[in-house]
Amino acid sequence: MQLTYGQYGGRFVPETLIPALDELEAGWREAQEDPAFHQELDRLGRTYAGRPTPLTLAERFAPGKRLYLKREDLLHTGAHKLNNALGQALLAQRLGKRRIVAETGAGQHGVATATVCARFGLECVVYMGAEDMRRQRPNVERMGLLGAEVRPVEFGTQTLKEATSEAIRDWIGSVETTHYLIGSCVGPQPYPEIVRELQAVIGREAREQIIEADGLLPEVAVACVGGGSNAIGLFTGFLADPVRLVGVEASGAASLGTGRTAVLHGSRSSVLADEDGQVLDAESISAGLDYPGSGPEHAALRDAGRAEYVSATDEEALAAFRRLASTEGIVPALEPAHALARVAELDEELVLLCLSGRGDKDLAEVLAR
Ligand SMILES: *Cc1c(COP(=O)(O)O)cnc(C)c1O
Repeated sequence: MQLTYGQYGGRFVPETLIPALDELEAGWREAQEDPAFHQELDRLGRTYAGRPTPLTLAERFAPGKRLYLKREDLLHTGAHKLNNALGQALLAQRLGKRRIVAETGAGQHGVATATVCARFGLECVVYMGAEDMRRQRPNVERMGLLGAEVRPVEFGTQTLKEATSEAIRDWIGSVETTHYLIGSCVGPQPYPEIVRELQAVIGREAREQIIEADGLLPEVAVACVGGGSNAIGLFTGFLADPVRLVGVEASGAASLGTGRTAVLHGSRSSVLADEDGQVLDAESISAGLDYPGSGPEHAALRDAGRAEYVSATDEEALAAFRRLASTEGIVPALEPAHALARVAELDEELVLLCLSGRGDKDLAEVLAR
C-alpha cells in the first residue's frame, strides 16, 4: 500500500471503491490545472460565501499579546466547513455526479453539504446517528428545509462513527452516480489532500492580511483540531515560514496527543485506540471535536516536529468562550474556544488564531452549565 504522509494515509477501503477513488483523484488533478475551476471557486467564495473573511485584532482578550483572529465564523453558514463543501460540489459536477452522500455528527458538515446541494440542484442524502438527531434537532430541521434527506442510523452508539460507516456503505452501492463528500481532512487518499487544498484559502488570506495589518508574519499560528481541516488550512499558509504551528485538541479526544497508529475510516493515522488497536470513544463538550481520529497529515507533521499538538478541557474551553464574548463581543463556537484557551500561556506575542465558527449553535449547551 502506498502511504501518502510518511507512515500515514493510504487507502484502507474495499476493493470496489478503488476505481472511484482513482476517478476522483484524476478529476481533482485536472481541476487543479484548470484555471476555470479556480476562477469559479473564487467567484463563489466572494459572491456566495463571503470571502475574504476579515482578520480581527482582539485587543482585550489577551493582554500583552497581539492576537489576530481569522474570522471563519463570519463565513456563510457560520463555519469554515463551507469552503470544503463548495469545492467538492464543484468537483462532483465536473465528474458528472448529481447525487451527494455525506455523514454528519453535530450536523455542521451536513448543513454545509445540504447548502451547496441546494445551490447546485444536487440530490443530497445525509447519514446521521439517531442519537445525534435527537441532540441536534435544529440542524436536522435546517437540512430538511434545504432539501436534503437525513437518514437516521440506528445501530451501535448511533453517532458519527456509525453514520460514517453507513455513508461509506451507500457509496459502495452507488459510486456510478454519487460523490461522497467527506467533511474533514480524513479518509482515504485523495480526500485529505483535497480538503487541505480547499481549506488552504484560510492560511493564504490570513498570511496576506497579517502582513498588511502588522507588517510581520505571526510568531505562532493556532487552531483547534477535530478531524483537522481548519488547522491544516491555516497551517498550509505558513509551512514554509519560520512560524510555530500549534493544534489544540479536546482533552477527551486527543488523538494526536495520546493516540496510537491505527486505521480509521479508510486511512492510517493517529487514533484514540487501546493496545489491541480497538478504536475508543471520544468525549468532548464540543461536537465538532468529538471524533476519535484526525487527519494523516497532522500525524506526519507531529512526528516531523513541525507542528505541536496540545489539549484543552471542557472547562477551559467554556471559560475562553465566555471571555471572548465579554471582552471582544464575539461569541465563538466551542471548537475554537479550545484554541483560545491556550493563548494566554504561549511565549509568543504575535499570535494568529483560526476562529473556525460562531457559537450560536452552542448557546444552549453553555448556558445550561
Ligand atoms: C467541525 C468543526 C470543527 C472541527 O473540524 P476540523 O476538521 O478539525 O476543522 C472546528 N470548528 C468548527 C466551528 C466546526 O464546525
